[in-house]
Order: sequence, then C-alpha cells, then structure tokens
Amino acid sequence: MMLFISDGERIHYGFSQKLIKNSNSTLLFNLIRKEMPISRAALAKKTRLSPTTVSILIDEMIQNKWICETGPGENSDRGRKPILLEVNASRGYVITIEIYSGGYKCTLYDICLKKIGDIGVRMATYNSRDICSTISELLEAKHIVHDRLIGIHVIFPGLFDAETGKLRFSVVIPFDEMVDTNVVEVLKEQFAKAIVMISNNGGVIAFSEFIAEGDNAGVPLLSVNIDEGISGGMVLNDARNNTKICLPLEIGHIIVDNDGPPCKCGNRGCLETLCSTPALFHALNERAGLGLKFRETFGAECNHAAMEIAASHFRAKDPKAMPVFQDYVYKLCCGLVSVVNLCNIKCIHIGGSISKLGSDFADLIRQTLREHFVMLNASLDISLELFSNDNERICRTAAIMTMDELFKNS
Ligand SMILES: [Zn+2]
Repeated sequence: MMLFISDGERIHYGFSQKLIKNSNSTLLFNLIRKEMPISRAALAKKTRLSPTTVSILIDEMIQNKWICETGPGENSDRGRKPILLEVNASRGYVITIEIYSGGYKCTLYDICLKKIGDIGVRMATYNSRDICSTISELLEAKHIVHDRLIGIHVIFPGLFDAETGKLRFSVVIPFDEMVDTNVVEVLKEQFAKAIVMISNNGGVIAFSEFIAEGDNAGVPLLSVNIDEGISGGMVLNDARNNTKICLPLEIGHIIVDNDGPPCKCGNRGCLETLCSTPALFHALNERAGLGLKFRETFGAECNHAAMEIAASHFRAKDPKAMPVFQDYVYKLCCGLVSVVNLCNIKCIHIGGSISKLGSDFADLIRQTLREHFVMLNASLDISLELFSNDNERICRTAAIMTMDELFKNS
C-alpha cells in the first residue's frame, strides 16, 4: 500500500512489499478447517501434494498444536481406518478491529473462524486505551484468558507506515475523530502474546473477493471499493510456484484530472475526489437539485439513505440526474482503464455502497469502457461485476489473513 513518510517539509511515497501467499501449510490448515475431520490421505488427494509432504507438514502442525488427531475414521478401501485430523479450536483466538470515524468494532473469532462475539463502540473521540479495554471486556465476557489471544488485526480506512504500523492519514476520518496514530504499538504492548497486524480496508476486501472466487477467479483481478473513500486491491497469479498474490492498491489516489479539486493526500484530481460517494452526492445536489444529506466521513449513517435516494433516481432514469451519473462513470472509467492497461486486468469487481446502483450501473460502466476507451490488453474478455460488502465477510477475511501470518511465524 502507499505510505506517507513525512520528512520535514518533504513527503516521500513508498510501497509495501507485503504479499499474501498461500503456502502449503496454510493451504492444508485452511482445508482441514473447512472439511474437518479429514485424513492425511484425503488432504494429499485434494491438495495434490505428495503424501510425504503432507505428512511432514501435518506432524509439524500437530507439534505446534494447531491441529489434533481425533481418532480413526471410517474404513478406507484397504480396510485400514485412517486417523482423522481436526483444527485445535481452543489453541487461540483472533480479534479484528474495524476503525471508523466516531467509533470502532471488535469481533472475536476462534481459530476455526467461528465468531465468538463482538462489541461495537460509538464514541466521538477515542484512543488506543479504549480499544484495549473493549478487547479485555470481550475476552472476559467469553471467559477467555488474555494469553489465549494470539492475533489482532486492525482494519483501517487510510494509509499507514507498513514498517511500524503507525497511522498516517485517512481521507474519510476527520483528524479530530482519529484514534491515536500508535494504536498498533499500544496493542502490541498490551497483548504481548498476540501478533498485531494492520491492513487497509481495500486490501482486506480484495482478499475477500479472491477467497470468494477461489480458483475460478479471472486474474489479474482488480477489486475497487467505492464508499466515502476509494480503496482497492489486486490479485495476481504467480505462475512459477502456482500461487496467487494479493496486493493492496491505492487506486483512490490515481490522478484522473490534474486540474481537479485538491485531494487530502496533497495531489489534485485524484479518483477519490471525483468518484467517492460524497463526490457523487455533491454533484447530484449541485447539478440535479436532489438535496441529499450526506457527510464526508466513513460510516456516516445519513450516507446510506443518500445512496438509496440516488439509486432510485438512477433506476428511474431521472433526466436531470442521468448526465451526472454518466459523467461520474466516465471519470471512474478513466481510473479503471489506467489500472487495466497497466496490469493487464482480466476481471474487475466493484463494491462498496456504490454497488447499490445495481446492474444498470454495471452496464453503464461496461458501455462507457467500450465506447470511450481503448483497453490495450484485455478488450475482448474483460469481465466486470458488482459485489456488496458484507461486513462479517470482511472481518472473517481479516481473521484468515491473521491466521496465515501466524503460520508464517510459527
Ligand atoms: Zn489523493
């Protein structure tokens, strides 16, 4: 993800190299979680790994108490009863923390990814200590000792320093409603047994789309999330070792109009300044007189209602509103085409509250891409779909990412 590293007056842009790969251990663990109880032989068959590789990795996971043997299963063809394997659910717990403006939400999972509980907190201003208290409250309510918390994943709608996890900036959370920037550091101090991760919400959503599509995903896949901010991610194929790589992408800060409005990132005419949902509401009010009530901040309640009204005007093909939607889609396509041509994208998924505009909106994007743009690489077979964000799915994905990270470090 892009990061801002302030150095006096200058601002440097960096790029996080953090890639998420499906290693063989992770592959096996995730398969056991999905299909348990399951035998070593069945795992080898399903993963196409050699029985020896499976055996070595499974023994390692048993030793580290990630999984356990649950006794013999049904007779196999040869008459021997195979030993079945299961995830050791009580080995530990993972918490996801979604950062909003004016609040946050903590969700607790066991390592089988079963949701154990959640607490949402609405507070005009809050700090890391408040988040720590909520985590403790959640653990205590479920009678879980602190040491059993093995992973914490902060989901942040903005930019942060990939090395230190220090929050840098969010377009969608006003500065005075922002949690203190060293939240990751405080969590690490407070919960020493847990690994603490932080991800941009767009990166988590891309990973979630990748998981949902599985092997059927057309890659490279571009996922774009359009709400009060615009974030995204890309899933690439690494043919050398037959793995998929998921990469967070700051697509919201692609410059599509260098005379455009100033962006909070410091540039002008970023995609986010022209195509965020508040930018659309603003244009609909100015040019079509809709009188929508909205706020620029992430998760603002009134924005849901504004989007419903905007969608009803779009569906009704309101003659005053349609030119606004057409201009909006044109600008959105400017951003999309840049990425499509740069990365040979095969498949675009657009989510966030903009997806409430429905299938006609997807058609308008397809038509605009076809009629006004040249796609250099993928013009024949590019596919475009809308998806609706399911909050549970995003948190669960963050929990999966945390488990993958734990595996790498175990
Ligand atoms: Zn920007």
